[in-house]
Amino acid sequence: ESVEVQIEDQEFQLEPDNELRFEVENKNETVVLELKTGLAEIFGTELVKGKSYTFYFGAKIAVFTWQGCSLKLRGKKGISYISKETPMMFYLNCHASLEQLRVKSEKEKIRGPVTMVVGPTDVGKSTLCRILLNYSARMNALGRRPIYVDLDPGQGQISVPGTIGAVMVERPAEVEESFSQAAPLVYHYGHTNMSINSTLYNTLISRMAEVIHQRMDENPRINCSGLIINTCGWVKGKGYQHLTHIALAFEVDVILVLDQERLYNELVRDMPIFVKVVLLPKSGGVVERSNKFRLEGREARIREYFYGSPRNVLHPHTCEVRFSDIKVYRIGAPPIPNTLMPLDMQKTDLETKLEPVTPGPNMMHHVLALSFSTVVEEDVVRTSVAGFVCVTNVDTSRQMLTLLSPQPKPLPETIYLMSDVQFMDNNA
Ligand code: ADP
Repeated sequence: ESVEVQIEDQEFQLEPDNELRFEVENKNETVVLELKTGLAEIFGTELVKGKSYTFYFGAKIAVFTWQGCSLKLRGKKGISYISKETPMMFYLNCHASLEQLRVKSEKEKIRGPVTMVVGPTDVGKSTLCRILLNYSARMNALGRRPIYVDLDPGQGQISVPGTIGAVMVERPAEVEESFSQAAPLVYHYGHTNMSINSTLYNTLISRMAEVIHQRMDENPRINCSGLIINTCGWVKGKGYQHLTHIALAFEVDVILVLDQERLYNELVRDMPIFVKVVLLPKSGGVVERSNKFRLEGREARIREYFYGSPRNVLHPHTCEVRFSDIKVYRIGAPPIPNTLMPLDMQKTDLETKLEPVTPGPNMMHHVLALSFSTVVEEDVVRTSVAGFVCVTNVDTSRQMLTLLSPQPKPLPETIYLMSDVQFMDNNA
């Protein structure tokens, strides 16, 4: 007996300042959205009337309209609803203030607004960054080129989990993708949690800020567009210290605090007077994600790095390398008792120490980053990375590793940095 696939069309009429929220809740389910009349946007990117947009499993979407519109959803069986309460007006006002600062920086030839978005997990930090970036990129005539900086190694939006990255935003993101992905600047951290190696995390933050400031100094357009910095949801204790380190290193001008008054007050207290700290409401539409969902998100992100997305399928390659032909290191030596610590050495030195890894079964499923430095004499730890491979097989008898790689070319002679992050390649 065949099961009939039930595909429903649903039409929605939205009043001005309303949004339609929906999720794609089931694997294999897709939802197709179409704008019938009026104007609408998804997280700051405008929809084209009559065009079909397809969303896949895990998508949590809000279609917002300033003017009113009618929409059609196809294939939706779960919840979808219209909300009249959104914080979009506050977010638009933030954009307008940032735009004023950009105009000022253009005139006075000074650095444009460096904005940091903070708040606990699941308050819509990434979404707010996306909205602000898309709004500034939409103003084509002004030629804004803000840089998006993602400092949350947990999700690894810009490349893969276990890294932090930055990318220049030249155009609004496509409706169905989250961020445009042109030539990112990526640093290997190697863990998904900042607490595992705080020293390394802070070292990378400082380095990245230095490199980005340099790029801003060299390019007036980037300079006046400024930065939008996304941070991680760990805002208490040491997490808070990381936030203040980020603010200092990047020399932030504006901090947008989502949802948490306590955090807002702490920052007002601790930041220099010229830093503008703003408390913003979160959207009632932001969906809380379980740990399981977060883990799946991580895995999906790595899968996407190698295999692409339904809209942009990639064909990765596998290659074999001899144990003796690959130089693999990890950053951070295992802690040693204080009594055994050499006198001229500090605990923090150990945390940023380059340690050789002997190839073997310990590498199975691990992600390896390809450093831009080729010899250990260079400052490998503070050098950005070009891309990633994943160890899919270890053959100890033949002394061979099998690597999954996005590149068909033979692997470059470089230094590989082993990440704690693992990926099971079910496609192989
Ligand atoms: P954070 O960065 O604070 O962890 P995100 O910005 O990633 O939070 O938001 C969590 C999830 O909620 C995302 O999947 C996002 O697409 C979804 N989301 C954000 N705003 C809305 C909204 N207004 N309506 C529906 N879903 C939303």
